[in-house]
Amino acid sequence: MIVSPKIRGFICTTSHPDGCAKHVEEQIAVVKGRGTIEGGPKKVLVIGSSTGYGLSSRIAAAFGSDAASIGVFFERPGTEAKTATAGWYNTVAFEKEAKSAGLYARSFNGDAFSDEVKHEVIAAIKEDLGQVDLVIYSLASPRRTDPKSGNVFKSVLKPIGEVYTNKTLNTGNGAVDEITIQPAEGDDIDQTVSVMGGEDWEMWMDALMEAGVLAEGVQAVSYSYIGPEVTWPIYKNGTIGRAKEDLETVQRSLDQKLASISGKAWVSVNKALVTQASSAIPVVPLYISLLYKAMKDAGSHEDTIHQMDRLLRERLYNNQPLPDEAGRIRIDDWEMSPEIQSIVGKRWDEVDTENLNELADFAGYQAAFLKLFGFGFDGVDYRVETDTSVGVPSLS
Ligand code: NAD
Repeated sequence: MIVSPKIRGFICTTSHPDGCAKHVEEQIAVVKGRGTIEGGPKKVLVIGSSTGYGLSSRIAAAFGSDAASIGVFFERPGTEAKTATAGWYNTVAFEKEAKSAGLYARSFNGDAFSDEVKHEVIAAIKEDLGQVDLVIYSLASPRRTDPKSGNVFKSVLKPIGEVYTNKTLNTGNGAVDEITIQPAEGDDIDQTVSVMGGEDWEMWMDALMEAGVLAEGVQAVSYSYIGPEVTWPIYKNGTIGRAKEDLETVQRSLDQKLASISGKAWVSVNKALVTQASSAIPVVPLYISLLYKAMKDAGSHEDTIHQMDRLLRERLYNNQPLPDEAGRIRIDDWEMSPEIQSIVGKRWDEVDTENLNELADFAGYQAAFLKLFGFGFDGVDYRVETDTSVGVPSLS
């Protein structure tokens, strides 16, 4: 079929197989262009491997360090009449590229929060790899079914304690409006912590450890965000921030458990970037548009692949994790530099619908958003028919 973007609010309901393949190819080229990651990982499990930071982590490990990889995700396959979700096509492309590079790659499409998927993945590690030496946890989900009780938890993006009013960007029409968000109520905080906190990460790590599939010296990493004060009411000090605090508590507990096999658990604080998860957070798209402009002008802009390559190459496998006072790896360091933050902070006060394109990189935001779904790539002819029913090789 001929595929074009269909945007509904903050998601695009179609995705382009050839464009997604191009996106994966571009990311592989970035990593290869930087050469081999000396002493890098060799057998990697990525939970949440199909889009955003998880996909880039898988690509950086595979193409920077020749790592065998197992990826876990929750995506919808396509049919001849309906496109798959972008993460499906990304994985089709990743596996094809991995195969032609002679790299092992196997994928699991299912609910990573469930016991079944954990068991299947552990069986595959035993069968094919024996053990893994790097576990990346990069899930972003609006809900989670508790595998023990069957309860369904929903995560919400709300401030805590007070109403929050600030500027926000309508990414559909480029209008800078004001948004007012009511504070969390009832068990909003607990539910969000149950979805986006550390409980499931700990369940994964405990199950992997118990099964003996973690190699001596294994590293386990989960991702977080902190950002500038302007976003704190909705992020760091909001319901999602509570979940990230919980992730850090789990990181400290995992770090102790992994010490028995000389392993390490980390929380890496990453840069704010356009992903399917971040585009759903109010206020953040305006901040990201201002940030992109400031960082591109300064020559310090990175995408998820540059971030993940830097995490592996310069921090995790260079014996220089450079943890902050709370033990977190900070690859948001360039975003949070005083120079960048003072530009963004000043422009935050000034930005309105009229001067948006002058002060912010809204065009860059929109282009990055479309790229997530495989649109806007040179070398892809969007006018011709394409096969939307392609399968992930290891799942066929
Ligand atoms: P994303 O939406 O691009 O990726 C989410 C991944 O999780 C996908 O692979 C998806 O298939 C998978 N997934 C979701 N629910 C699942 C389920 N039930 N079972 C299996 N797989 C499931 O998100 P992202 O922005 O890359 O976020 C990943 C992590 O990075 C999150 O912890 C997020 O908080 C963190 N982070 C993001 C940003 C940002 O700006 N995007 C910045 C810092 C940290």
